[in-house]
Amino acid sequence: MKKVIIIGGGFCGLTVLNRLLWHKDRLVLRLIDKKTSFDFLPCLPDVLSGLISPDYISCSLPEICQSKGVSFTNSEVLSIDFEQRQVITKVGSFDYDYLVIASGSETNFYGNQTIENNSSKLNDLTDALGFADKIASEDYDCCVIVGGGYSGVEAAANIKRYLKSINLKKRVILIERSQALLPGLEQWMGRYALNALRKFQVEMIFGVSVDNISDETVFLSNGETLSRSLVLWTAGVRGVEFVDKLNLKSDPQSRIKVNQFLKVNEYCFVGGDAASFDYHGFPLRMGVQFSVAQGKIISDNLVRSIRRWPLKSFKPVDLGYVIPIGKGQGCGKILGEDAWGPCVIFLHYLMCIFRAQSFKNKIGMVKGLLKGGRLLW
Ligand SMILES: Cc1cc2nc3c(=O)[nH]c(=O)nc-3n(C[C@H](O)[C@H](O)[C@H](O)COP(=O)(O)OP(=O)(O)OC[C@H]3O[C@@H](n4cnc5c(N)ncnc54)[C@H](O)[C@@H]3O)c2cc1C
Repeated sequence: MKKVIIIGGGFCGLTVLNRLLWHKDRLVLRLIDKKTSFDFLPCLPDVLSGLISPDYISCSLPEICQSKGVSFTNSEVLSIDFEQRQVITKVGSFDYDYLVIASGSETNFYGNQTIENNSSKLNDLTDALGFADKIASEDYDCCVIVGGGYSGVEAAANIKRYLKSINLKKRVILIERSQALLPGLEQWMGRYALNALRKFQVEMIFGVSVDNISDETVFLSNGETLSRSLVLWTAGVRGVEFVDKLNLKSDPQSRIKVNQFLKVNEYCFVGGDAASFDYHGFPLRMGVQFSVAQGKIISDNLVRSIRRWPLKSFKPVDLGYVIPIGKGQGCGKILGEDAWGPCVIFLHYLMCIFRAQSFKNKIGMVKGLLKGGRLLW
């Protein structure tokens, strides 16, 4: 029996786990996660607007593991000893024969501890609920979102949707360091998102960065300040902290560089956001479709490694991506073609329902979307 440890019960980790169950007679499986739930991250912005209930975007990892007869350890991984083949966690060390790192990504505060301590992030359901709780609070005059990437754009629209649904007039201000929204994507999408957010009456400040945040005051690089602000930091993501200590090759976002078989050494595979896979000279972008697809290849290659069979190369199939904004607006690329409007929103939620972990969650998402339709369209 070979001992397999999977670090991270997200999209990639759970795909690996589910597929390795087919070989349970020859494998001893252990999932390690610092959280006790799988959170459906693409729906976190919808938790801010109340469109989808948090009950339907989360699943208990201990329950999933128990139902499949797999060991679960709820602890943070601190390091890995590749020589001894041991995973070191806060609650002890675990030996492995094969290891899968699927630890995802986390919010990048670029090493600024003060900003990290004084702002909220949107990395998991706990973050989303904590922030949602404060949006309507009288302690804050405005919500400030830092970073105009897809998470920032979606969050801004959803916060406005929520405020409107409770008839509260509060400023929502999005700050973007570059001169356009959705930097890194095609320019038309930035312009589309700009018009959409204007309709939501989101205020936007471009070409300015946040120097500091203290006592609910945001200090901008142009000398302006925004007082009594509730701040959501969506200005980038990076590989999780322990990856920095592994002495593995990584890209500027601290994602581990992997080969075509998604391996970093004889006994270790890396997939999902944690992996930096070279795709036409650039790291493959983060996304659910790639995390799931990599999970499938990793599970196959792990079994093939044990059998000493040739490994399969990972060949990404890019179905596209969408940025749902609301009120019938969204933009993206579907199968290489530009796409915008209600169909984009429809496809996004279709993907969410399709990828949801349980039947209960699928039904819950559909109910939320039907009930909250007026927020969407
Ligand atoms: C707000 C938001 C919206 C998004 N919207 C979309 C979208 O619309 N479409 C899309 O395709 N993608 C979207 N994404 C990205 C997508 O969610 C990720 O690409 C995907 O979740 C990555 O899957 P993963 O398995 O690599 O990591 P995750 O799903 O993040 O899972 C990683 C797991 O590892 C665990 N972990 C991390 N560090 C440790 C540690 N040290 N020890 C133990 N456990 C650890 C975490 O707790 C987590 O459970 C969105 C992401 C966010 C945050």
